[in-house]
Amino acid sequence: MKPSDFSHQLADLDAQTLLRTRRVVASPCDAEIMIDGHRLVNFCSNDYLGLANDPALIAAAQEGARRYGVGAGASHLVCGHAAPHEALERRLAAFVGAERALLFSTGYMANLGVVTALLGPDDAIFSDVLNHASLIDAARLSRATIHRYSHLDLVELEAQLSQSAAPRKLVVSDAVFSMDGDIAPLDRLLALCEGHDALLLADDAHGFGVMGRQGRGTPAHFGLNSPRLIHMGTLGKAAGVSGAFVAGSAGLIEWLLQKARTYIYTTASPPLLAHALLTSINLIEAGDDRRARLTARIAQFHRQLKLRRWRLAESCTPIQPLIVGDNQEALAVAQALMERGLWVVAIRPPTVPSGTARLRITLSAAHSAAHVDLLTAALMELEAR
Ligand SMILES: *Cc1c(COP(=O)(O)O)cnc(C)c1O
Repeated sequence: MKPSDFSHQLADLDAQTLLRTRRVVASPCDAEIMIDGHRLVNFCSNDYLGLANDPALIAAAQEGARRYGVGAGASHLVCGHAAPHEALERRLAAFVGAERALLFSTGYMANLGVVTALLGPDDAIFSDVLNHASLIDAARLSRATIHRYSHLDLVELEAQLSQSAAPRKLVVSDAVFSMDGDIAPLDRLLALCEGHDALLLADDAHGFGVMGRQGRGTPAHFGLNSPRLIHMGTLGKAAGVSGAFVAGSAGLIEWLLQKARTYIYTTASPPLLAHALLTSINLIEAGDDRRARLTARIAQFHRQLKLRRWRLAESCTPIQPLIVGDNQEALAVAQALMERGLWVVAIRPPTVPSGTARLRITLSAAHSAAHVDLLTAALMELEAR
């Protein structure tokens, strides 16, 4: 490896138009944001309930900083486990209907921690091909045998489960798929797990706060309650802050506390965030009006958008992928939207299967009907070009 290798590899990426760039956002995450001195309507964030810039949450974070300072100072098992962390774990467990919950600093770390704490080289993991990168990395890191099944193909999954002689089996799935917006049938996945003595890890990064009664998540949407269910939710998307939790049986959570390396060997997240998150959970629980606004925007988007060439994916969640197909066209449409003051990201292979380059449009309770009007009008105009 030579230092000059980087410039060659980067030039290769650039030639394939796969070089990624960042935009510097000069304002809080909200429906409208400032970039390079321009105001844009934001259709890219996962802030589905519009909580990231909520005044009550900002006040709670400020109060948290006054009470607990800024840093936790150590990991949870040393001296970093603060009163608001403990209170938030209890609140989350009760909210999602689990015996116990454990906080992680990010969803990525939660997935790595859970899978590696549960599985070793003799074990088997069963993973939907469209699962999030953190679940894929977690499976690899565990050194368990990885069985990938076609997207939502429960017949294939059942065959794989039946043929496996592994002593421990774990099925992992996004609950709401991050690039497609469709919902995994957690009830049927759980039934398969029961029939084959497996556990189910449901990654609810995009469902917590949005799905289920009072936003309790996708397991609540299906009315599930089982010691075989491991519910991972993130706190940086609909919850508007940062972090993640894993909820499940008391035995599972105690095992993770003892064994999950991404829990043990990292500094606890700032207690002020846990303090703010206690307010966030209250807002989610009392947030039926926000969820109703979000549902109304999704319905409006579907009602108004009439397309001939591009295809809207089948999704009733805030993630509304518009499949353009061609990589260059997807990029060009995103650019043209940007020029019209609308920020939508183009997602290309390898993040999504080749030939399915898309605009990943995310809707939020923070959007007004007028924001959605602008988007649907611009998309129809650009498709007709
Ligand atoms: C965002 C996301 C994660 C990672 O969560 P972070 O808290 O952002 O690290 C995990 N799984 C899915 C499906 C996600 O979309």
